Amino acid sequence: MASAAYYLGFDFSTQQLKAIAVNEQLQVVYEDNVHFDKDLPEFGTQGGVHVHSDKLRVTSPVLMWVKALDCILDRMKSSGFNISKVKALSGSGQSCFSVSDSPVWMDSSTSAECDHLEKSVGGPQVLANITGSRAYERFTGNQIAKIYKQKPKEYLETERISLVSSFAASLFIGDCAPIDYSDGSGMNLLDIHDKTWNEKCLNACAPHLKEKLGSVVPSCSVLGPVSTYYVQRYGFSHDCCVIAFTGDNPASLAGMRLEEGDIAVSLGTSDTLFLWIQQPTPALEGHIFINPVHSQDYMALLCFKNGSLMREKIRDECSSGSWEEFSKMLRSTPSGNSGHIGFYFDVMEITPQAVGVHRFDAESQKVSEFPEDVEIRALIEGQFMAKRIYAERLGYKIRPQTRILATGGASCNQDILQVLSDIFNAPVHTLSTTNSACLGCAYQAAHGLAMQSSPLSFTDVFGSAQSKLVVTPRAESAKIYQPLMNRYAECESALLQQSKNILRT
Ligand code: ADP
Repeated sequence: MASAAYYLGFDFSTQQLKAIAVNEQLQVVYEDNVHFDKDLPEFGTQGGVHVHSDKLRVTSPVLMWVKALDCILDRMKSSGFNISKVKALSGSGQSCFSVSDSPVWMDSSTSAECDHLEKSVGGPQVLANITGSRAYERFTGNQIAKIYKQKPKEYLETERISLVSSFAASLFIGDCAPIDYSDGSGMNLLDIHDKTWNEKCLNACAPHLKEKLGSVVPSCSVLGPVSTYYVQRYGFSHDCCVIAFTGDNPASLAGMRLEEGDIAVSLGTSDTLFLWIQQPTPALEGHIFINPVHSQDYMALLCFKNGSLMREKIRDECSSGSWEEFSKMLRSTPSGNSGHIGFYFDVMEITPQAVGVHRFDAESQKVSEFPEDVEIRALIEGQFMAKRIYAERLGYKIRPQTRILATGGASCNQDILQVLSDIFNAPVHTLSTTNSACLGCAYQAAHGLAMQSSPLSFTDVFGSAQSKLVVTPRAESAKIYQPLMNRYAECESALLQQSKNILRT
């Protein structure tokens, strides 16, 4: 049966522009992408970006995004997809902002500006309390501060500053689109409690910034109808609504259909945690954003660089490169690993900032090696204890109804998921969602439009996502892991103190 309506999502990611259309049952009915390097070679990007000679500055040409959008819509039209049935659309972009060459998330050329911003407000923790994160080089406030310092005249002549997301929304409405709460939370400028620009942060970055940023709106806001350009050129309906565009991480939370109290764990190249939080306690590690699906709540994001590649390294060293053997050894060792604890950071970790492999015995004494099976369990338990410790520091509370949703390459490994379930003392479900950011934008389009007629939650309107229950926590888990986690945290702070002392001498 032909569906009465479609909802469109666009994701301006680093390497490509993706588009997904869903019908009223939220089933995907159309999908395409434009690959910047391959499909738009005239911009000369590599991996969608230009890395400049100092290796710190990383930018993308803004015109490339505009052209990619025309290209993807041209293809959509010629594919026979009925664009006139699109009732609403939304999108997401990596968080940064647009000048002719826009700095992107990989840019790390603003450490002086970050120092200045943190000092101006009273330190990194104070900045995190206000904006949800300490200063980050890629965050827009610090990028703006750098441009103001280097090109004050151009800055002062700038009428409007957009994020990639609000810039893309501007194209669709044919006017300057406001920044949404969630992507705005990744700028080091927005007060996540008051949901207004913070004067101290603005002033520390550049003058007259408030006027240039415009207003901020909830992420499900209807911005207006698509402009006549899209109606005439591609056949959009006059009343197709544009819903605020947001950041790629908030869009992913929407795409995974997280619900109140849920936690999503993506076990990919790096491991990422998405948390739905009601009362956040911002910390120096991790980020708090205003929740894109329910703007009275929050989401937190934690990224661990040493994820799958670290697991693969230990698999190769201890179980002859076989995941099956790895799993078998994991099953053969007891929960709590008889008190053995390990930290495995092959590359400099971000949560926490530490590097190297560090092992502790049951008396918290450093040891140089573990038997292979102990090593495997120490790795997996260590990775998941760290995730729970850092999640709780950000205000996450495990409750009886807590669900863990696992995605990414390692989520096919039930023995790894069993450890995750035991440590969080919660059931683990798997999600098969791919392209969660782009899909999340299509969902936000449907949700934003539905909210116009009634302020219902996404789940109330569309139901829960289909996930598969894979494992439940074993009895006694809480009793074993609570004291082990306390010891893990103590060993970690001893490690961090030690590396600080080494840096000082
Ligand atoms: P990306 O972050 O690049 O999208 P994926 O989510 O596709 O990565 O995850 C890829 C990773 O999944 C591989 O690096 C591999 O280590 C891991 N993986 C694949 N199969 C298993 C398994 N059976 N057990 C544990 N990890 C696995």
